[in-house]
Amino acid sequence: MPLIAQILVAAGKGARIGGDVPKQYRILGGQTVIERTLAATLAGGQVDHSVIVIADGDTTAETLLAGPNVSFAIGGASRTASVKAGLRALRSLAPDYVLIHDAARPFVDRALIARVIDGLSTTDAAVPVLPIADAIKRYDGRIGRDIDRAELRAVQTPQGFRFAKILAAFDALPDDAETSDDIAVALDAGLSIADVTGDRHNIKLTYPEDFTRAELRLKDKTMTETTPRYFATGTGFDVHQFTAGDTMWLCGVPIAGDITLKGHSDADAGLHALTDAILGAICFGDIGDHFPPSDPKWKGAASDKFLIFAAEQVAIRGGRIEHVDVTLICERPKIKPHREAMRSRISEILSLPLTRVSVKATTTEKLGFTGRSEGLAAQAAATVSLPSESPS
Ligand code: MG
Repeated sequence: MPLIAQILVAAGKGARIGGDVPKQYRILGGQTVIERTLAATLAGGQVDHSVIVIADGDTTAETLLAGPNVSFAIGGASRTASVKAGLRALRSLAPDYVLIHDAARPFVDRALIARVIDGLSTTDAAVPVLPIADAIKRYDGRIGRDIDRAELRAVQTPQGFRFAKILAAFDALPDDAETSDDIAVALDAGLSIADVTGDRHNIKLTYPEDFTRAELRLKDKTMTETTPRYFATGTGFDVHQFTAGDTMWLCGVPIAGDITLKGHSDADAGLHALTDAILGAICFGDIGDHFPPSDPKWKGAASDKFLIFAAEQVAIRGGRIEHVDVTLICERPKIKPHREAMRSRISEILSLPLTRVSVKATTTEKLGFTGRSEGLAAQAAATVSLPSESPS
């Protein structure tokens, strides 16, 4: 297990929010923003030590946040100087990884932190990113031409780094350097960078209206946590025929070989069965109702779209996916070498901890169509918790 530290950057004066109180000390749902952020980053038990970077003369932070495995460092004039101070404070601990996070992002969760940590297993740095939903246009006092959204990503924190590498990169910067974020420093230093899927809920509280949204979101969360709930289990089943090809998509993972699955979309029977299981749990029809094969739009479509749709339908109902279990029934391909990749892909798509995602496989002892390797079957179960309906 790597030793993981985090730096929460809270040295800013939060000028954009207005008022005298820096935004990390504003009250959100009865607690300061920074208390919420620290608690959220520690909830998953993934972080071993936290350094809070505070402004010189700030006496509030220690009163609010002191605890085991929490220490404090005094920030500098710029964000860059503050991060540098945080990194230097971790020198003696020398963690394997460091996650650098904005104190004003209190909605970070365990799944996002897990994706950043996973990203670091193969690279020097990992950054959560999201595609841009709004149209983006140039502006120089007047509306100009479009900027191609496909070339742009919104960047969030926590940004993760191999500690020794990012410390060296910051140490090499002049004291008055001002960089936009820590990934920019990593990029300039030539570190390898992975991007992982960000989280739309992980907003940075920047403008006064962000606080209004955040209060609403907290109210929603409290409602979800206090309303009586029931559990529902849905099941799904799917079959696709084998045909010649070089890549088979199964549970969101490409498997190279000499066969593939025949179908209108990418024919990922694993994700199709799972999508149907989730739709079953919320009694919302099946995959064919929502993505009819007659619609050319879904030709060759990546099946994670279908799964994301089903997960969104759960969220819209105030529900939560608790656990999923997929069984692949086939003689070939061999599933075992791909099983962990399949679990992580599903966990990523559904923002579900890996411990709640099961993928397994069986054969039919050479019997039937799967036994003759004419095709592959998948079955799935999904457990969802939902708010109890009020009696009508
Ligand atoms: Mg199918």
